Order: sequence, then structure tokens, then C-alpha cells
Amino acid sequence: MKTVRIVAIDGPAGAGKSTIARMLAERIGLMYLDTGAMYRALTVVAQDRGIDLGDESQMVALLDSSSIFVGKSEVVINEEDVTTRIRSQEVTLGVSTVATLPGVRARLRDLQRKWAERIGGGVVEGRDIATVVFPEACLKVFLTASPSERARRRVEQIGGDLLEVEAAITLRDQRDMSRADGPLKPAEGAVVIDTTGLSVENVVATMADLYRKNCG
Ligand code: C5P
Repeated sequence: MKTVRIVAIDGPAGAGKSTIARMLAERIGLMYLDTGAMYRALTVVAQDRGIDLGDESQMVALLDSSSIFVGKSEVVINEEDVTTRIRSQEVTLGVSTVATLPGVRARLRDLQRKWAERIGGGVVEGRDIATVVFPEACLKVFLTASPSERARRRVEQIGGDLLEVEAAITLRDQRDMSRADGPLKPAEGAVVIDTTGLSVENVVATMADLYRKNCG
């Protein structure tokens, strides 16, 4: 693979990854890829078709026969715009089951690497980006925040009951951290930033500085 300039961002749900990655990408002039949107888009189609989300061979067959497009502000799978649907509670509850399947992960990682290679680099965020997908990234960041702060941010964004949201976030974190393939954890050499109590601007500015130092 040719060398590409990658900023790899991992972290648990609600740590601010998407907002921060999007703003950072704009500031440093790179494209941005939300890899969670890929797992979510596949989950939407599987749920529509009544496929068991934990059935690896069926899920891999579905992925192999699907085309996924994750753009700057839209997510399309098999020509259906699922930008809004991928954020539903049903999808949020199901997606971490899909994400345990090694066959699905291998294929999505392949798409993520091809995306970066095609455009020559980017800001990529997810759960296994710095650990597995781009261990050679010039900047690796693990963004985190306290569970209550993460739940509060989610409720602000999409509504819901604070305690229920916190419980759902904790469950998804546990699943993401305990799976065998690509578990959520800080990569070797990653800078860990706890965003609790920090403004988005503050975190973006810190990361833009790190980018200039590490990737210049
Ligand atoms: O980031 P987001 O909350 O949209 O991710 C949804 C889910 O997709 C995560 O909870 C995780 O289970 C899965 N995921 C993953 N690896 C990635 C990105 C997302 O396993 N690189």
C-alpha cells in the first residue's frame, strides 16, 4: 500500500469523535470518514430484510451483494439514502452485534483502506482505526469522556431519557471493548484525550497542533 496521510481517531460512543473529526478534517484540509456509518448502514438493510444480525455467513453475503457509500453528509446503501435511519434506536441497539463478526469487519476494513488510498489520506474515526486499520497513521488519538458526560451529550443531540441513554452507551461500550476482533482500546502510541469539560474548539485546536507536529 502506498503511504497515505491518516489521522486515526478511536473512542467510545459519545466521546465527540464525529464532531471533532469533521471539524479537524476541515481545518487541516483532509477528507473525513465515519466508519461507524458503514456498520450502521449494513445493520439497516439486515433489519429490513429480517436477517439475524449475528449470522455471519448471511451478513457477509449481504455485504458482498451491497454497495455502501459514506459521503460528507450522506450515507447511501444499495441506492437508498439511510442518513437518518442509521441513527435510529433500533440500529444503535443492533449495530454492535454486527460489529462482532470478523467476516464483516475484514470487508469493511478493506473498503476503509481503499477509500484512504484512493484520495491519498484522511481523518478516519471508529473503534479499531488506529489499532488495526491504520496502525501506521501519522497521528493516533483516543478520544474519551466520562459515561455521564457522554450520555448528556447524546441526549442533547437526539433526546431521550438520560439514565436509559447512559445504560445503552455502557452496554455498547462493553460489547465494543470485549469482542475478540478489533476491540475498542487505545492503540500503541495513541494520544489519549479526555474531552470531559473541554470545548470542541479546544480539542480540535489541540489535535490540529499535534497534526502539524506529527504529520508535517
Ligand atoms: O461510531 P458509531 O457509534 O456510529 O459506531 C456504531 C457501532 O459500530 C459501534 O458501537 C461499534 O460497534 C461499531 N464500529 C466498529 N468499528 C468501527 C466503527 C464502528 O466496531 N471502526
